[in-house]
Amino acid sequence: MRKRFLTQLSLVSIITCCCLFGALYTADCQAFQQNRQPVIYLLAGGNFHLTEECADLLIQYLQGKTRYPVKKTMVRYDLTRLDELNAQGLILITQGGVLSDAELQSLQAFVRSGKGVVGIHGATDSFDDAGEVEAYTDLIGGWFQSHPPRGEFPVTVKNTSHPITREMKNFRVRYDERYVMKLADGLDVLLTVDVDGKEIPNTWTKDYGQGRVFYTGLGHDRTTFRNATFLSMVVRGIKWAIEDPAQ
Ligand SMILES: [Zn+2]
Repeated sequence: MRKRFLTQLSLVSIITCCCLFGALYTADCQAFQQNRQPVIYLLAGGNFHLTEECADLLIQYLQGKTRYPVKKTMVRYDLTRLDELNAQGLILITQGGVLSDAELQSLQAFVRSGKGVVGIHGATDSFDDAGEVEAYTDLIGGWFQSHPPRGEFPVTVKNTSHPITREMKNFRVRYDERYVMKLADGLDVLLTVDVDGKEIPNTWTKDYGQGRVFYTGLGHDRTTFRNATFLSMVVRGIKWAIEDPAQ
């Protein structure tokens, strides 16, 4: 009787263990699948800007408007992990820092393979603490040189046939910076600003390999990240560069 009880106990133990292992295995698989869910990776950080607050304002606005969830990180040096993170695209709200050779190559390969980058404001003043990285300038489309005093200014819609700007009219931003930049080749300029009587490209798209880049020079601080015209343009930029690259 005792032996039979032990046998029954052993059977119950084995079944319990199998169930528990199965549950753990399932949970582990779910966790893995969650990690493998496609995401838009938002990298924020740098000096002179409220990058985290601006990133949070953008993420709040993007709720329900993007196909993939937007995952924010303030950790700067993750650009070799874009495939591992299953990133469908990259949003840069950054300034300064450096790129390792491995990160630069990873970023180039990422976009060339058909993924997208959306750069905002300081994205053209990023990864340049050791000087301009020309290959990065070529990818994002420009390299920051200077800006006149910040404040309110008009923005001109230069391209009225592009999906990002065709519904837009000229508008004003209340408090921002007009970046003057060294420009890369191959830009499709969407918006311009006036600096001392010169028409300066401010917002553009660029094809890069199989992938796409959308950049806007607007977005110095939270004021612009509360501007509906700017925010809706960034949504269309995300759709064009990241979500519908074959559009
Ligand atoms: Zn700025």
